[in-house]
Amino acid sequence: RTVYVNGEYLPETEAKVSIFDRGFLMGDAVYEVTSVLDGKLLDYAGHEARLARSLAELDMRNPLSAAELLEVHRELVTRNEIGNGLVYLQISRGSAGDRNFLYPDESVPGTAVLFTQSVPDLAMPPAAERGIKVIAFDDLRWGRRDIKTVQLLWPSMAKMAAKKAGCDDAFFVKDGVVTEGSASNAYIVKGNRIITRPLSNDILHGITRASLLVYAAEAQFEIEERAFTIEEAQAADEAFITGASTFVMPVIEVDGKPVGAGKPGKVARRLREIYVEAARKAAI
Ligand code: PLP
Repeated sequence: RTVYVNGEYLPETEAKVSIFDRGFLMGDAVYEVTSVLDGKLLDYAGHEARLARSLAELDMRNPLSAAELLEVHRELVTRNEIGNGLVYLQISRGSAGDRNFLYPDESVPGTAVLFTQSVPDLAMPPAAERGIKVIAFDDLRWGRRDIKTVQLLWPSMAKMAAKKAGCDDAFFVKDGVVTEGSASNAYIVKGNRIITRPLSNDILHGITRASLLVYAAEAQFEIEERAFTIEEAQAADEAFITGASTFVMPVIEVDGKPVGAGKPGKVARRLREIYVEAARKAAI
C-alpha cells in the first residue's frame, strides 16, 4: 500500500514519524475518515470543514492547503486502486524534538499522514443486513467530544466490552441519557419520527448525521433533536447509528433487549438507501 506522510508518497513500510511527535506522546492530533464508493469521496466538503474546525479549536495549523488535501485524497485512491473503502487522515501538532506539555512554536510543522483502507463490501456489508447489537456503556470520555481527536482509548474499551458481551458496539450513556455510539451518532425511531441528540460539545458533529437529516427531512420524515434513554431505545420501533464507515446501520438489540421486532426495521433500511444514493450522487 502507498501512504502519504509529510509531502511524500511512500510504501507503508518506509513511512516514518518521529517518536517525539505529540500525536504519539500526547494524543495531540485530529483525524477524519472519508468513505469512498466507486473511487469517489463521499461528503468530502463536510469532512474538510470539520477538520478545519477541529484544528481551529486546538490552535493547530494544517500543513496542507485545501487543494493539496483533496489532491492527496484522490492520489491515494488512484494509486491504491480503491473502489470502495476509506481514506484516513491524521494531523498532529508535530514536535520540537523533545517531550513538553507546552505547544511548540508555530514555526514547528505539523505531521500529516493519510492512508487508504480497501472495503469492497462498504455499500452493503453483512452487518447492515443483520443489524448490530449494542451494550450501554458509561461515557467517560473527555468533555470536548465535538473535536475529532485521536484519543480513542475509551471507545476502544467500549468496543472490547461489547465484544466480550457478544455484541457489536456500545451506546455511551451520560447523565442517564445516550450521548452517541463508540464511533457513530445514535438514533431511535418512533413511527415516522427520527429522534437524535442535538449538537453540543458532548458529541461529535457527525458528517453523515448532517447529510442524513437533510435527506430524511426531504423524504418527509419528522426529525426531533433531543436526548433519549436506554429504556426509550429498547421500547422504540427501531434504532440505528450513522458514521462515515457505517452509513446507516440498524441496531436490533440494546443492552440485552430487542428493539422492535429484533431485526432491521423498514425506516433504517429506507434511510440507508436514501443516504447511499444521495451521497453517491454528490460524491467527488
Ligand atoms: N461520533 C463519534 C464518536 C465518532 O467517532 C464518529 C465517527 O468516527 C461519529 C460520531 C460519526 O461521524 P461521521 O458521520 O462524521 O463519521
